Parts: sequence; structure tokens; C-alpha cells
Amino acid sequence: MNFFESSLAISSCFSIQKVREDFPILAEKIHEKPLIYLDSASSAQKPQSVINSELTFYSKKYAAVHRGVHTLSAQATQDMEQVRVKVADFIQAQSPKEIVFVKGTTEAINLVANSYGRHFFHPGENIILTEMEHHANIVPWQMLARERGLNIKVWKLTHEGELDIDQLSELIDNKTRLLAITQVSNVLGTVNPIKKIVARAKESGLLVLVDGAQAVMHQSVNVQDLDCDFYAFSGHKLYGPSGIGILYAKKALLDVMPPWEGGGSMIEKVSLTEDTTFTKAPWRFEAGSPNTAGIVGLGAAIEYVTHLGLTDIAKYEKSLMKYSLAALSTCKTVKLYGSQKTRTGVIAFNLGKHHAYDVGCFLDQYGIAIRTGHHCAMPLMSFYQVPSMCRISLAMYNTLEEIDFFIEKLQHIENILS
Ligand code: PLP
Repeated sequence: MNFFESSLAISSCFSIQKVREDFPILAEKIHEKPLIYLDSASSAQKPQSVINSELTFYSKKYAAVHRGVHTLSAQATQDMEQVRVKVADFIQAQSPKEIVFVKGTTEAINLVANSYGRHFFHPGENIILTEMEHHANIVPWQMLARERGLNIKVWKLTHEGELDIDQLSELIDNKTRLLAITQVSNVLGTVNPIKKIVARAKESGLLVLVDGAQAVMHQSVNVQDLDCDFYAFSGHKLYGPSGIGILYAKKALLDVMPPWEGGGSMIEKVSLTEDTTFTKAPWRFEAGSPNTAGIVGLGAAIEYVTHLGLTDIAKYEKSLMKYSLAALSTCKTVKLYGSQKTRTGVIAFNLGKHHAYDVGCFLDQYGIAIRTGHHCAMPLMSFYQVPSMCRISLAMYNTLEEIDFFIEKLQHIENILS
């Protein structure tokens, strides 16, 4: 079989070769070796259509939005608002008015903490976080807790590195206001049964914020079906530009939330002598000039994955995952982390007692890009009692041959370091 044929064999749904051709960076060489990019969970590469959309916007359509009556400004505003509609459709929100443009998942969570949390949570109340959260879904809540006198409760992992829903029930009391939880762990790849978890939390009247940063590129999301109150994700992990992300919030919540940042575009009337008033949601939460090119690029990224089909992408990635897990198990000293049952997108491992940075540096010499370190999940590193882990990400443009090459080099490193 040639380079693409065996990957093609598991992808009856779309042409892996064509997909790879859509991503110009995949033709690049690193240390004179073909790039093997296994770090998409940190940030995914961009298809030409996303790159072109920003290029066209800047070269033919650029102007400030929401500010002018001239043609370019009106068109740019329309383009931006059309992406809001596209995002709402993508996550099946009830209305585009539930979609706020932010910088990324981190800003989305900070917005909820600083707006809803600061205004509606009271001293003595508590918030539940899980032990598998990214720092973006821990630190904003800790900062809020410090400021408002709240308590943070931790939903701990089981021995197998999973969340047991019975333990959630034990944590909830009559002062619990919010559960903030990731849909997919950025380290373990664990897919949490979010719908069931949200339902349990709702029985006790909790609000639920779902961190979808590692979910939206691997499965279709229906926020109405999940019934979560807030859903956050980043464009750059969804093959879109960096510096753009989404906060979804149920309209009834967004409508009562006070603004977090003040400035242009979020006001109704500004006066130095009377009270300044604010505009409606979602624009009330978008102070200042937005990342319009990023928004346009996000629209192109959504079009790209929608055109390929998230179901087909998931099917292909599942085969890659199965293959990679089996291949990794042939390495003598590899220790895998996380539950084997429900995993998507990433595999975290260590090679014996070797520091992940050493493994990552060796692999880089062969053109293989993986993520190493604490993965912005220090509590999870503590759970496993390691300072760092290696992590490979599996995206729709990765092939079985890349995995074979990676495993061959990993075994080589295993021999050199032993
Ligand atoms: N949440 C999860 C699960 C993530 O994986 C990441 C990024 O790796 C984030 C939040 C933060 O995303 P961003 O840096 O795009 O705001």
C-alpha cells in the first residue's frame, strides 16, 4: 500500500489525501523531515479555505464593524453577524442572540465568572469543578471564589481516571450554584457523559457550564439537547483562526447578566452626567473592536468541518485512535493514562521514567510534533503523581503511516534512553 492507501482503507467517508492537501502546512518539513503534526489539541492547523477567508477579508472587504454607514463597514458587519448565525446552527442554539464572540474558551469562562458569578453568587455558596479540568476552567472560579467568599468543591476522579456521577450527588448541597465541567478531557481524552451529568445537576437546580474546547471538533454538539446553561469553545482548535472563540449562554441568562468589560459597541447611551446604559445581549458582552477577520475565519472553519461531516470525521478519528492505542501498547515502557472506554482526540503517555520534554525533543528531531508538559492541568498531574506527560492528538488529517513512523521513532528513543 502507498502512503495514503491504508488510511484510505479506514476512511471510506472522505479522501484523506484531499483533506491533507487542504492544509498547506502539512507539506512543510521540520529538520528536513516531513512534518508529522500530532499536536492539534493544543492548536489545530488551518485549511486553505480558512486562510483564504482572512486574506480576502483583509484584501477586499476590511472595515470597522458596527460603526459606519459606508458600504464596506455595512458589509463587514453583515459578514460578522452571519457567522453568529452559523455558530448558532453549528451548536444548535435556539438563537444567534445566545452567541457571544470572545477570544477563546478562557475568555468565555472568565466572562461567565465575572458577569454572572460576580453578580449572582453570594458568600458561602459553592461551585463544583472536576479534577480533570483545564486551568481555564479552574482559575477564573478560584479568583471569583476569593473575591466573593465562595467555596470550590472538587469532583474527584475514580481510580480509573473517570467521573462517577454518584459522587456528584454527594457533593451537591443547598448552597451549590454551579457545576463547571469539561466535555472532553484535554489530557485523557475522556468523553464525559455530559447530558446525563447536566440532567443530574439540574435536578438540584444547578447551573452548568460546559467547556467544549476539546469536543466541538470531534462530535456534533446540540446545546439545547444537552440543556447546559453555558458552553464555551475556541476557534483555533476547530481548524479556525486563533484569537476567536464562542460563549453560548441561554438567552434568559444572557439577558440578565451585567456586562463585564466596558467600552465602545456595548453601550446604548453614554453620559457623563446621567447613568450610562448598555445595549442588548449578546453585543453588551462585546466591548471594543472585535477580531472581525478571526470571526470570518471561524465561519470558514465551521463550513469546512460541516462540509466534511462531523460524523465522518469522528468515524475516521475513532479508527485512528484504535490503531494508535494498539500500536502504543507494543512499546515496552509506555504508560498510558486515562480510561480506555470513552476516549477521543488525544492519548497521554510517558516513556518509562523519562521526562516528557526529553521524549518531545527527540521526536521533534524526526519532524514529529507532540505536546509535552503539564497540559494546563496540574491537578490531573498530581492525581497521577507525575510532573508531566507526553500527548499525541489525532485529527482528521493524520494517517496510520504517521502513527507507524511515530511508533518506530518512539521505540528507537526507548532503546537510546534505556
Ligand atoms: N479548556 C480545554 C479543555 C482546553 O483544552 C483548552 C486549551 O487547551 C482551554 C480550555 C483553553 O483554550 P484557549 O486557550 O483557546 O482559551
